[in-house]
Amino acid sequence: MSVLVVGTTALDSIKTPKAENPRLLGGSASHAAVVASYFSPVRLVGAVGGDFPKRYINLYERHGIDLEGLDVIKDGKTFHWSGEYEINMNNRETLHTELGVIETFMPTLPKSYQRSSHVLLANIAPALQLHVLDQVKKPKFVVADTMDLWLNIAMDDVAKLMKRVDMLVLNDSESHQLTETENVVKAIRKIHRMGPRFVIVKRGEYGAVYSGPDGLFITPAYPLQNVVDPTGAGDSFVGGLIGYLASCKGPFHKHLRRAIVHGTVMGSFCCEGFGLKRTADIARERIDQRLKEFDALIRV
Ligand code: AMP
Repeated sequence: MSVLVVGTTALDSIKTPKAENPRLLGGSASHAAVVASYFSPVRLVGAVGGDFPKRYINLYERHGIDLEGLDVIKDGKTFHWSGEYEINMNNRETLHTELGVIETFMPTLPKSYQRSSHVLLANIAPALQLHVLDQVKKPKFVVADTMDLWLNIAMDDVAKLMKRVDMLVLNDSESHQLTETENVVKAIRKIHRMGPRFVIVKRGEYGAVYSGPDGLFITPAYPLQNVVDPTGAGDSFVGGLIGYLASCKGPFHKHLRRAIVHGTVMGSFCCEGFGLKRTADIARERIDQRLKEFDALIRV
């Protein structure tokens, strides 16, 4: 089965206390699509400008990602995001967001994409997430991610989106903002009432809390000694989750807990390098080895 991913395909300029890297490959869809491609075939929907380096297109291609849905708008500019991390690497500040070609992007899906079984509406304007979802015929599983910006400026669309997805993934502070509730268990209950049957609240280095009809499930994060750049860890998490789910047979809910473990492990790889430097090049044995290590870490 295949995964359709829509989201930002970006250039990221990232500053950490130790280093600064301009114009790396980034964007919610890039992180998620590359990670999902380790487990399942992936179809990408996005837009880039004429300034998008060919080597980044080559990187998608190396991962076998279907690029029929990637618009290259020669006289436009690629979405550019820049951010700076504080010394603890948990808090970051957005310095600059330039929407570029994303501002007016409302794609018509290629015919071959319309029957995708799994859909990842990665972080991007919720109106665009809805527009893409409208064009997919009877998907088996739909997950959406969002962020504070969209909760601030497009809450009506986020509310519509929540009624149409199986799962919503968001981070701790976004769950507080969305529900005006500090306690994570109460916040999750409120989110279920807004629509999604399955909810995951990501808590950075403290892991994730899942809630569904089968109750709660909690995973820690994989303990890393050296976090180089956490940008895209959340997108890698959800990319790993949906890529793994699309590789499983039978009802998706039976595989969700193992999918969360896959997401957690893939998110940890992302933090080990700037941008997609680590996740673009992981040997399959390294993934399997870390999955095993993680299993041992969480076993009681
Ligand atoms: P994460 O660290 O998981 O929050 O993801 C960071 C990625 O999100 C970066 O690669 C950015 O290019 C991308 N990004 C930043 N701001 C936005 C936005 N407003 N909408 C969509 N993607 C964004």
